[in-house]
Amino acid sequence: MAIARFWRETPRRYNLGGSRCTNCRTVYFPPRSVCPTCSTHRQSIGKLEPFQLSGEGEVITYSVVHDAAEGFEMQVPYVVALVRTREGPTLTGQVVDVDPHTVRIGLKVRATFRKLREDGRAGVIHYGYKFAPADSGGAAPAPRGPRGTAPVAPGPGAGAARA
Ligand SMILES: [Zn+2]
Repeated sequence: MAIARFWRETPRRYNLGGSRCTNCRTVYFPPRSVCPTCSTHRQSIGKLEPFQLSGEGEVITYSVVHDAAEGFEMQVPYVVALVRTREGPTLTGQVVDVDPHTVRIGLKVRATFRKLREDGRAGVIHYGYKFAPADSGGAAPAPRGPRGTAPVAPGPGAGAARA
């Protein structure tokens, strides 16, 4: 029951709900209430709207962790990557379902909902997003149709341009 409560209290951590400035179209995660990109910040007050990130992106840098932090002992070695999402924001997260040595810059990944760590003393289990390869890189079965998924394409006007 504690899990369900945790879910309700911090939904944004799981569904990657960010915000987008309707003035300059910049996407933020975690969501912001004021856009720092707009030249005059007052312009963006009240201009941010909820925005759902797709969870798709690619690895822009990463490191293989061999020395586990407390609570992560069962998982070494593991990969922590900085992922640039399709919508723009960069997220830090563990990359799972992949041989740590095959992770590379440019790897297409997809956010997935996983257990992050377990606090034995309090009996609290924390959940949040991790990343898994968007293309089935080998071990992990890919439960999807024959058409697969659309490639992550930085379409025209995909938020990169800033005046
Ligand atoms: Zn803005």
